[in-house]
Amino acid sequence: MQNSVNLALALTRGMVIKMISFGDYMAPKDLDEAYSTLISKKPARLIGGGCFLRMGNRRIGLAIDLSQAGINYINDLEEEIEIGGMTSLRDYETSEILKDNFGNIIRDSVKHIIGVQLRSIATIGGTVYSRYGFSDPITALLALDADIYLYKGGRMPLEEYLKEENPRKDILEKIIIKKNVEKAAFETLRNSAVDYAILSVGASRVNEKYRISIGARPRVATLAYKAMEYINNVEINEDTATKAGELASEEIHFGTNNRGTGEYRKEISKVLVKRALLGVQR
Ligand SMILES: Cc1cc2nc3c(=O)[nH]c(=O)nc-3n(C[C@H](O)[C@H](O)[C@H](O)COP(=O)(O)OP(=O)(O)OC[C@H]3O[C@@H](n4cnc5c(N)ncnc54)[C@H](O)[C@@H]3O)c2cc1C
Repeated sequence: MQNSVNLALALTRGMVIKMISFGDYMAPKDLDEAYSTLISKKPARLIGGGCFLRMGNRRIGLAIDLSQAGINYINDLEEEIEIGGMTSLRDYETSEILKDNFGNIIRDSVKHIIGVQLRSIATIGGTVYSRYGFSDPITALLALDADIYLYKGGRMPLEEYLKEENPRKDILEKIIIKKNVEKAAFETLRNSAVDYAILSVGASRVNEKYRISIGARPRVATLAYKAMEYINNVEINEDTATKAGELASEEIHFGTNNRGTGEYRKEISKVLVKRALLGVQR
């Protein structure tokens, strides 16, 4: 009864109801089974938290639910931290291990994503594997010089993965962050607290070198190489951080979408890069 009332309300208010449906469903107990099914059955699709997949009208022939595949963990190893692909954004946000090693950058890069309920379901693997342009976690992980580990493709720098032209058919097993990060900061501008970012910036000092990443531009995040080269050869202060912001705004391509124009993003990038660099230097 309640459902029909909701449906009637939605229709009278002109809302369109989106539905996802599965032909078949499986929840493999390991990645071997998940991967072999993924590559052998054409209509198969991996399901992480399912939050993004369910946003549209979609029929998935075979849903491979990764929730039982043993990749929900945050492991503190001697020289690096491993984050399993099925780790929820909420576990990622609240992890003491990640906070102790990298400060607040991890928390800051997910805290704007809708709300605790959604972050308790959406996964870091679904976010990173899909290379969404709007992804805040990708911007932060790129600044942290993270690696990814694909079940079939093995380990590679996130920086390299983001530049690949063709999509792969693989499973993001884990993300690896080395413990050589000295300090990091994340800055973002949004129209409202939980909207998608107009622009996001990550900065870090890794092995005594600064890294600057820019995301939601609106394409997927990229490093600002010229700005990094400049800032790595000077002392950071108000003037040099301003100059680095200007260099970043010149070298990065900014586009237009319904959240902001390319021109606006270019201007904003100067401020966010400066703030992030000063945040790392403090
Ligand atoms: C309303 C809404 C607002 C959002 N706002 C923001 C925001 O402001 N900033 C932001 O950064 N993100 C935002 N997100 C995205 C969210 O953070 C997640 O990125 C997104 O939900 C995908 O995670 P998921 O686990 O739900 O993936 P799913 O929806 O399950 O899957 C997404 C895609 O990834 C694939 N996939 C899933 N897991 C894996 C894996 N381990 N290996 C390989 N492929 C995999 C699936 O096959 C699918 O193609 C928003 C999402 C929603 C629904």
